[in-house]
Amino acid sequence: MCVIIAGGGIAGLSLGLTLHQIGVAFHIYEAAPELRPLGVGINLQPNAVRELFDLGLQDDLDAIGIRTRQLGFYSKTGGTIWEEPRGQAAGYSWPQYSIHRGELQMLLLRTLKERAGEDCITTGIEAVGFTTREEGASLHFRNGQSHDGEIIVAADGIHSAIRQQMYPNEGAPIWNQRILWRATSRARAWKGQAAMVMIGHDALRFVAYPITQPDAQGQSVINWIAEKHVDPQSTWNKEDWNRAADIGDFIGDFEGWQFDWADVPALIRKADRVFEYPMVDRDPLPRWTHGRVTLMGDAAHPTYPVGSNGASQAILDARSLGASFLRHGLSETTLSAYEEKMRPAATQIGKANRAGQGPDAVLQRVEDLCGGRFKKIEEIIPRAELEAHANRYKSVAGFGIDALNAAPSIIPELTRGV
Ligand SMILES: Cc1cc2nc3c(=O)[nH]c(=O)nc-3n(C[C@H](O)[C@H](O)[C@H](O)COP(=O)(O)OP(=O)(O)OC[C@H]3O[C@@H](n4cnc5c(N)ncnc54)[C@H](O)[C@@H]3O)c2cc1C
Repeated sequence: MCVIIAGGGIAGLSLGLTLHQIGVAFHIYEAAPELRPLGVGINLQPNAVRELFDLGLQDDLDAIGIRTRQLGFYSKTGGTIWEEPRGQAAGYSWPQYSIHRGELQMLLLRTLKERAGEDCITTGIEAVGFTTREEGASLHFRNGQSHDGEIIVAADGIHSAIRQQMYPNEGAPIWNQRILWRATSRARAWKGQAAMVMIGHDALRFVAYPITQPDAQGQSVINWIAEKHVDPQSTWNKEDWNRAADIGDFIGDFEGWQFDWADVPALIRKADRVFEYPMVDRDPLPRWTHGRVTLMGDAAHPTYPVGSNGASQAILDARSLGASFLRHGLSETTLSAYEEKMRPAATQIGKANRAGQGPDAVLQRVEDLCGGRFKKIEEIIPRAELEAHANRYKSVAGFGIDALNAAPSIIPELTRGV
């Protein structure tokens, strides 16, 4: 008997590594026939990086990602609104990484197979539902098979089949009338080699950051996201992380976004391939746990990709579940203790992102106050207000600097086998 995990994304693989580290048997069932390095860039916040370091992945993360040192917000005319240090430059004991999502997933998969054995994951098998009993639970698959475990954890993403069984009337994810176009281009990084920039306002926005070290010509792989608010009457394509798009659909909106430090249309034109994704989330749930089955990662709390939280929260869920297994064993109490710890914070993050209270809210405020045109930002918004806003979101998302540095490890060192 063991813990059965549905889904081998960032959440499921992080949970597998955590359970292996604390000596709990597990098996992962993944729907994709083969895990491939899909997606574009993401960010890992220091609270999640700490957990990956505790899993012994520090050197590997340095090999595939960038230690991000700055986050900056700029108006549509290129004016600097706010720049702040990130990661260790901000005083955290752990860095923030900008990294390719697919490469992170492959790193977690490779490490898991090395540590727990090739056969700890079965691919090409799609979970469709569950049954929970007093002493265990069964995961049911589309091919008619079922597998029993003492606990089932659903890490099967935003379209979770397990969540759908728990909440059959929930329906499709909720769209906020924004489309994201995501891609990578090889170019020289803006604002230094380790800076993330957010330009524009609510209706039209551009985010860019390097995810690799520069090559001999000083060029890095730059991850970028062009975001546009579209007519509420317009139709939208169902969310699919791999849907290809054409730059002609949006580049016209960014013509003219050429500043002395950045040329947005030129970066867009250099893209390898562009993917389109509607900005969607789901309402927070009143419960993640039903008997011996619980949800984690995007299956539990899909939110807008605006505060660099999706992958970070998935990793924290995994570690919190691990800590709960250590404390309560393979029981229902384990799952309720995990949910009690993680659900309130995830709910708050989702609500803050939805209400436009993420770190990027300052962009629209400047647009409202002066149409994005100013000589000195202090004449538009007092510095103290900018600072207070930036700090508020960090503590909502659980990465306030002093609190994180002082917090004990989620999985105590003595209980880690690896
Ligand atoms: C292909 C892909 C590309 C992505 N690209 C980006 C990106 O570029 N930027 C970004 O911010 N976020 C991206 N994401 C989302 C991001 O990975 C998550 O928001 C975050 O990492 C939380 O991870 P998760 O493991 O909960 O969900 P996911 O990363 O979505 O992983 C869920 C996993 O479960 C599997 N699965 C789904 N249904 C079933 C089922 N019924 N049975 C078994 N397995 C199932 C999926 O194949 C997937 O491997 C992407 C997700 C995917 C799947």
